[in-house]
Amino acid sequence: MGPLVNVLSWSLSRQQAFNECRRQYYWQYYGSWGGWDDSAPPEARQAYRLKQIVNLDMWAGDILHTVVEGEVKRLRSGYRPKPVPLRERTRALLNEQWKQSVEQRWRDNAKHNRNLFEHYYGLPVSDARRMEIRDKLFACLEHFCSLPLLDHLMTTDPAAWLAIEHLDTFLADGVPVYVKMDCAVRLNGKVTIIDWKSGKESERDRDQVACYGLYAMQKWRSGLESVGAVLVYLHTPEVVETTIAPETALAMQEKIVTGIHAMRQCLVNPAANEARRDDFPMTDQKNRCRRCNFHEMCYGPGPIVEHE
Ligand code: SF4
Repeated sequence: MGPLVNVLSWSLSRQQAFNECRRQYYWQYYGSWGGWDDSAPPEARQAYRLKQIVNLDMWAGDILHTVVEGEVKRLRSGYRPKPVPLRERTRALLNEQWKQSVEQRWRDNAKHNRNLFEHYYGLPVSDARRMEIRDKLFACLEHFCSLPLLDHLMTTDPAAWLAIEHLDTFLADGVPVYVKMDCAVRLNGKVTIIDWKSGKESERDRDQVACYGLYAMQKWRSGLESVGAVLVYLHTPEVVETTIAPETALAMQEKIVTGIHAMRQCLVNPAANEARRDDFPMTDQKNRCRRCNFHEMCYGPGPIVEHE
């Protein structure tokens, strides 16, 4: 395998970083590049380490996805998930990853050891907050286990499964657009994309579904009329079934292409996807800095403080 090359790509999270703070975008997608290598410049290694940080809510979402993904794979063998073993698995993951973060094991391996934002930046986490996260995850798993949807999935022909936790791309304006689907199956002749949610409904969910529609059109040559999405909000619990209108998909396609053009315009060398830090200014909205992984790159080491 040849050396990895940093190519311009698009994703919802990339666009969000670009919109919120150009400097954050720079650190996330350019300044941290190569930082996994011990011989990389110290700044790239630092940015790479910070890029792996997650806050408590994101951490809970990650753990929920890990546990649910494992169970969805087992569903195909006819095994229906039960709450007690899932709770125990979740508890073990919470304890193990909390320890990784407290003991700063990420210093040896940033990619494979949890680094929590609150620990890194010295923010207090009460026992009550930890219990709240645990209890929310347990409630989500309880709801997951009781979903009637699981009965459909258990009896689905194995050949009808299209993807589980699958990171892939489709092309827009020649640029790879990343999508990660929790689960995709053919149900009653329709491509059905299932997304497990740990949080509340948001505008972003609609964009995500539209991206899935664009992906399904390219990847499985599906017409939009034969693509549907099921968003499962595990905490509430609420199951939202939705279709993708052609005008919604078109608007998303335009949004992606507009985003790609704007990102390209910021590059010092678009053909080589090269960026220069000073072309990516720090945000004026300093309230964003208080929850930014890269706070240390902009303000130096130490706890997070108020910025004027
Ligand atoms: S600390 Fe603030 S200015 Fe710096 S990258 Fe983060 S959001 Fe942007």
